[in-house]
Amino acid sequence: MKKYVIAIHGGAGTILRSNMTNEIEQKYKMALNESILAGENILLNSGLAIDAVEAAIRSLENNPLFNAGRGSVFSHEGEHEMDASIMNGKDLMAGAVAGVKNVKNPITLAKSVMQHSNHVFMAGQGAEVFAKQLNIEMAPNEYFFEQMRYDQLIQAKASDTIHLDHVDNKFENGEKKFGTVGAVALDVFGNISAGTSTGGMTNKKHGRVGDTPIIGAGTYANNQTCAVSCTGHGEFFIRSVVAYDISCLIEYKGFSLKEACNLVVKDKLVKIGGEGGLIALDTRGNIELCFNSEGMYRASKKSNEEVYLGIYRD
Ligand code: ASP
Repeated sequence: MKKYVIAIHGGAGTILRSNMTNEIEQKYKMALNESILAGENILLNSGLAIDAVEAAIRSLENNPLFNAGRGSVFSHEGEHEMDASIMNGKDLMAGAVAGVKNVKNPITLAKSVMQHSNHVFMAGQGAEVFAKQLNIEMAPNEYFFEQMRYDQLIQAKASDTIHLDHVDNKFENGEKKFGTVGAVALDVFGNISAGTSTGGMTNKKHGRVGDTPIIGAGTYANNQTCAVSCTGHGEFFIRSVVAYDISCLIEYKGFSLKEACNLVVKDKLVKIGGEGGLIALDTRGNIELCFNSEGMYRASKKSNEEVYLGIYRD
């Protein structure tokens, strides 16, 4: 039997066991499991890594628990501006969108930019026009409305701060939500792919774009090295060119996947104050779920193994 691998994340941050109820923990685990199964279903049937990545991310985008798609946080203007990107390790093809509104599944739009345009990166209204031309599913503002998210915006505005979804560890009514989402996959043909999707940061200003849609920062895939999807404080991940840095350490310095992830996440990012983490894999089927924060919602599955689900630092 040919081997496949998939790994996903639902955001990294101050996720403490002491703040979590059993019920909420189960909800997250179920959501992560569903996403893994959605991706695995494609890999199992000899589908492509890029399609598995899209399916796993769509499942998380459709779940209001995560800060992507439906559960996206509010911007300063009280809107939902979403970013997403996807990359194929075989041919280095990539697609990305930034600041899009009312797109139900931004990851699908990013994949469409890759497959159906001559471009890599589309932003704002132009990307929405492209989505409509391709009959990509749109959703009204109400679809994205979550009372908790709105309350987060009011709090952030009152204190004039921009909140990373992960750093606030108060689980009011046990309902506090975390999470940019991402996936990496290896298909039975030996190709790898990565994708990431987010609503960004609460109270973000005037067209702010994080690392998520930036190829090389939040997402990168190359069959020769690795596939990476990041989550964390985007400004630091952009300046550290995190995903491509990991690929470069493997390509030019001969690092193993583990050594590269550890150096970037636990040393380089920490030194500049960048909190967060990432998931990565390579064509040999090695997986890294690496973070420098208290926790990261994460899951992985190899063809011949059980699903691994994790939330806290082990
Ligand atoms: N990296 C995302 C951003 O800065 C946020 C996140 O990972 O939650 O937009």
